[in-house]
Amino acid sequence: MRLPDNAKENLKQFVMLRSFRARICLLTLVVGIVASALMRHAIMETYKHRAVQQRTETVQNQLLIVAKHLISNNYFATYRLQEPGMIASRQGINAELETISNLYGGRVMIIGKSCKVLKDTYGISEGKTIISEEVIKCFRGENVSHYDAEHGYIEMTIPIASTGTDGKSSIVGVMLTSVSDETIVEMIDQMNQNALTLEILMIMGIVILSVMLSGVLTKPFGKVTAEIRKVKEGTSEKAISVPDYVETVHIIDAFNDLLGRMNALNDSRQEFVANVSHELRTPMASLKVLADSLLTQPDVPAELYREFMTDMVSEIDRENRIITDLLTLVKLDKTTQDLNIVALNVNDLAELTLKRLRPIARKKDVEVIFESMRPVIAEVDEVKMTLIMTNLMENAIKYNHEHGQVKVVLDADHQYFTLQVTDTGVGIPEEDLPHVYERFYRADKSHSREMGGTGLGLAITKSAVLMHRGSITVSSKLGEGSTFTVKIPLNHVTGKGRNGS
Ligand code: ADP
Repeated sequence: MRLPDNAKENLKQFVMLRSFRARICLLTLVVGIVASALMRHAIMETYKHRAVQQRTETVQNQLLIVAKHLISNNYFATYRLQEPGMIASRQGINAELETISNLYGGRVMIIGKSCKVLKDTYGISEGKTIISEEVIKCFRGENVSHYDAEHGYIEMTIPIASTGTDGKSSIVGVMLTSVSDETIVEMIDQMNQNALTLEILMIMGIVILSVMLSGVLTKPFGKVTAEIRKVKEGTSEKAISVPDYVETVHIIDAFNDLLGRMNALNDSRQEFVANVSHELRTPMASLKVLADSLLTQPDVPAELYREFMTDMVSEIDRENRIITDLLTLVKLDKTTQDLNIVALNVNDLAELTLKRLRPIARKKDVEVIFESMRPVIAEVDEVKMTLIMTNLMENAIKYNHEHGQVKVVLDADHQYFTLQVTDTGVGIPEEDLPHVYERFYRADKSHSREMGGTGLGLAITKSAVLMHRGSITVSSKLGEGSTFTVKIPLNHVTGKGRNGS
């Protein structure tokens, strides 16, 4: 199925974002850009605030000087008088006010006690009454100033205080002033442009830094991949090490464990293949020797032919048995193997198995006793359960002395049933006990071969027991006999893996 081009593009983008390096890069980039933009904004705002404050203080200082002049010239008491001296002094003050208004691009109003405008440098409000919050506050002694950025001016009030004959100071008028912020805005704009250029340079630096940083930070993960690849390509089989981060150490540790398990599996597989070839070759070698001796001898008597042929048939039977056991084992080894679980009468199955084996026991005059403590119904796979019972009981007969005894005891509690197979046979040496479940392991090699054993019976038995989530144990004394005990849950536990190995 072909993906449309835009879907491919989306997929690429998605894959890009899933990259750890891309994420670090993006994160440092976003953090860097946001931080530098915030920094520029904060610096500009602080600067603007400072500039407005400075401008306000300068204008206020100048106006305070004028206010002193107003008082010293008795402006409020004499502003109506048209005497030449008064007019001249007013003109002097007006000129001062005009200078301030022109200098700061603003407007100055002098407001008398009754909130009446006595002087307006714009000349439009003279004689009018102004009742504004700022003015009233100023008459109460509060100095008010505020910056209106939207309309571009700073407004402030200056109290005009006069000291009476009693030495007390009283506010006789207010100077309401507004000055333009034009020069401040121009300066801020200029600074903003410079800061923007600087910010762009910073962002370029951040981009380079984030690419480099993300590269450096993700380098150990690249090393991990390279090391794993070396193992995969077969250049190295040794445990690898990338100790840069705790995280890489954890990944590598997990990988080394896996590698160890794989190597162990590989070793056991090689050993198994070697064992299989050896086991399969032994009957073939015997066959060849038998056939060769028949061919090389002239005029072989008919009895010898018959004897050799009988031996050859038994070797072929042996080869067949090995192959059948191997196939059984391979089938049991499949982890996905489905068990055919049914509720089964285990007493009946044990009796049936013993009945089948009685002829072999009779040949050796081995007495077989079955002791059932209680009726046992369990959820098991009949075929695999038969395999377990047959292998254990057959071994108990095979490795027994003439006139020996085999005792099979079946018991159960509320959770498990136990099958105990005890014999009075040859026993197993202590050092061989941990190995008896290994494939092709034989404690007593010559005797086992003699008995037609393949060395796979107990491996098959253990696999089948584990598939039922049960356990198998053995106790034995050389020359006295052995006891194999199998414990299996009455109710089958479903689940993915198998417990044990
Ligand atoms: P085999 O086909 O050789 O019997 P098994 O896997 O059944 O293979 O058993 C492995 C080895 O354990 C046998 O070769 C034998 O030496 C030993 N063994 C098993 N069961 C008994 C037993 N009941 N008494 C003594 N030895 C036993």
